[in-house]
Amino acid sequence: MIRVSADWILPIADAPIGGGAVTLDQGRIVSVGSSDGREDLSLGRAAVLPGLVNAHTHLELSYLHGRIPPAPSFLEWVRPMLAARAARSGSDEAAIAGAARRAIQFARATGTSLVGDVTNTLAAVALLRDARMPACVFHELLGFGGRHVDEQVSAARTTIDKLGSDDDLRVSLAPHAPYSVAPALFTAIRRDLDEHVPMVSTVHLAESPEEVEFLRSGTGPWRTLLEQMGVWNADWHAPHCSPVEYLADIGFLTGSVLAVHGVQFEGSDLDRLRALGMTLVSCPRSNRHVGVGSPPLEAFYAMDVDVAFGTDSLASVDDLSMFSELAEARRIAPKVPARALLRSATLTGATALGFGDAFGSIEPGKRAALVAVHVPDGVTDVEEYLVSGVDPDRISWVEAA
Ligand SMILES: [Zn+2]
Repeated sequence: MIRVSADWILPIADAPIGGGAVTLDQGRIVSVGSSDGREDLSLGRAAVLPGLVNAHTHLELSYLHGRIPPAPSFLEWVRPMLAARAARSGSDEAAIAGAARRAIQFARATGTSLVGDVTNTLAAVALLRDARMPACVFHELLGFGGRHVDEQVSAARTTIDKLGSDDDLRVSLAPHAPYSVAPALFTAIRRDLDEHVPMVSTVHLAESPEEVEFLRSGTGPWRTLLEQMGVWNADWHAPHCSPVEYLADIGFLTGSVLAVHGVQFEGSDLDRLRALGMTLVSCPRSNRHVGVGSPPLEAFYAMDVDVAFGTDSLASVDDLSMFSELAEARRIAPKVPARALLRSATLTGATALGFGDAFGSIEPGKRAALVAVHVPDGVTDVEEYLVSGVDPDRISWVEAA
């Protein structure tokens, strides 16, 4: 057992405690409250908060760091990204794994305690286990042709079952996006999810204006790209509605689906998301890099939708620091209270990923995965400081006894 005090404790589930203390035992939180000045360890001018939750990343794309430049529009980012992935050769495997391993280490060093990782290759599963980084891994399926979807999903399920899930690492299934997944594949994935625990899933939704155009009219750059790739499905007809309406009508959306991006969401979409109890994962730095604009974050919060944050992959962001992501969120949403942003980056993400009983807040019984941020002299509003961009060298982990 160890008792640790700090000038600020941020339980997230409750208001910050000035002059606070936490008691930890065997990797769990025993209690949290005010300091009595007799703790085993005093961290002084530090803010202790739960480890951050990166609710959306693609670790397997870490090797693309710095290779796909910022673009003025989404398809101008997608095309070089697809070309870079296609150019990858079998001999690159070690380099790809090495880049993902370093990305996990950096995420941990900058205070991340849990990730939601989207993968096509499933290579990240072993890397996350080796690094003891808790995760919900989403085995992502693509296929616009809509053929043999049951076989595709049952093969994916067999692969997932072989990998196994445990308390720290769970593997689930996820469709990529409305422009890359046929309605029949969405339906087959939904059927599979309903038969399995955990049911948590995720989907990229309303990221670009081109996606919205594609669903509204069946035209535009996405249609062109699908045709050029030779995967256009002649049976597919535009639903003439928004991305949220489309997937809700198909029956894919439930409260267990994390909708990622939502840059193009309108008020009615946000109403629907809230009614479904869904969590919206925002990745504002990536959105800017790939040319889709900034998400309407203030509207997300004003509409009372549950918001989490993710970095997305190193193909579209400079680093996997959630503190950097929070700084971009603060920049584009100055009216959202810092406390709400911090809750998004911790408890909301953990809950959405199905880890809310163990991560995301400082409460008795939860994991002692706590981050200490050394606060510079002169800072009076600690919550605001934490969303202003924190240097990695100010971040450390509170060692649990
Ligand atoms: Zn993504």
